[in-house]
Amino acid sequence: MFDRLSSLSESALAKISSAKTSEELESLRISYLGKKSELKALLKKLGVLPAEEKPRFGAAVNDAVKKIESRLLMRRQELLSSAASVKKIIGGVDYTRPGFIQKPGLPHPLISTIEKIQKIFLRLGYGIAEGPDIEDDQHNFSDLNFPTDHPARDAQDTFFIEPIHADNPLLLRTHTSPLQIRVMSCLNPPFAVIVPGRTYRSDAPDATHSPIFHQVEGLVVDENITMSDLKGTLSFFAKELFGPDFKIRFRPSFFPFTEPSAEVDVSCVSCSGKGKISSDCRVCKGTGWLEILGAGMVDPNVFESACRRRGDRVYDPEKVSGFAFGMGVERIAMLTHNIDDMRNFFENDSRFLEMLAS
Ligand SMILES: [Zn+2]
Repeated sequence: MFDRLSSLSESALAKISSAKTSEELESLRISYLGKKSELKALLKKLGVLPAEEKPRFGAAVNDAVKKIESRLLMRRQELLSSAASVKKIIGGVDYTRPGFIQKPGLPHPLISTIEKIQKIFLRLGYGIAEGPDIEDDQHNFSDLNFPTDHPARDAQDTFFIEPIHADNPLLLRTHTSPLQIRVMSCLNPPFAVIVPGRTYRSDAPDATHSPIFHQVEGLVVDENITMSDLKGTLSFFAKELFGPDFKIRFRPSFFPFTEPSAEVDVSCVSCSGKGKISSDCRVCKGTGWLEILGAGMVDPNVFESACRRRGDRVYDPEKVSGFAFGMGVERIAMLTHNIDDMRNFFENDSRFLEMLAS
């Protein structure tokens, strides 16, 4: 039995040393150390040995098992390290190289800001309207009560599309407001819509300007709509977007398509509106307020434009009234994410985008 044990052990160690794959090693392990292995069968025959030989034979079996186990371990490590060092390059392709990690996509911060704004207005019962990026002068300016000599109509401010037709040139829309006319052309009051979209102005890119930017327009038309409806709506919006403690204020302003018009400020997101108390606040420059949008009551001339396009008096300014507002999405995204340079949104630096998503 001692001879059989010794020859069994020798053949096991030799076969393990010459194994070529880890699968081969595993089958050797099972055949030499498994429950049905000859080694285990030899152990069961321990009873037939004379009493004085039993301990010696038991120790010899244990010794053989230890040797086989350690040779198995050694050979497994050899096979693993040779697999790692020998790269199987076939036809110029390294099939052993780890794959590239495919990162899941993320919404761009401007898209997620638009979605946040949309959600707030959808809760208030607003619909969403969209329109073309290429507009004509009529929708972009004339129907919105812009005088013919308004500076916004200058080629320095607006991207016109060649060939330029003298009576109604095509252009890249400078705001989302042309949708006011498009929506009124096909919807009867009462209605409430927001218009998210891309807009274009001939501005050189800097920290606060970009030739492409995004706006969300709002338009509500019904009977007896007043400035207090506008204030209530925008106050609700600011609290939902920035937090319950945020306040808004209206400052008188002028836009061709609203009368009266107002610039709307929200309490500073950085110093929480403390303003002069923390006069070192760089974000609001110590005023405590940040401008976020322009708004006002729809100018009667805009309602007249809608009537002209429709050929009826559904939007008779004596019967209906409404309010409109327009906000810059980049401005709001910069305030909510504390970003000081608008160009970051357009540079496609994935580190910046991932930082905002986390
Ligand atoms: Zn501040």
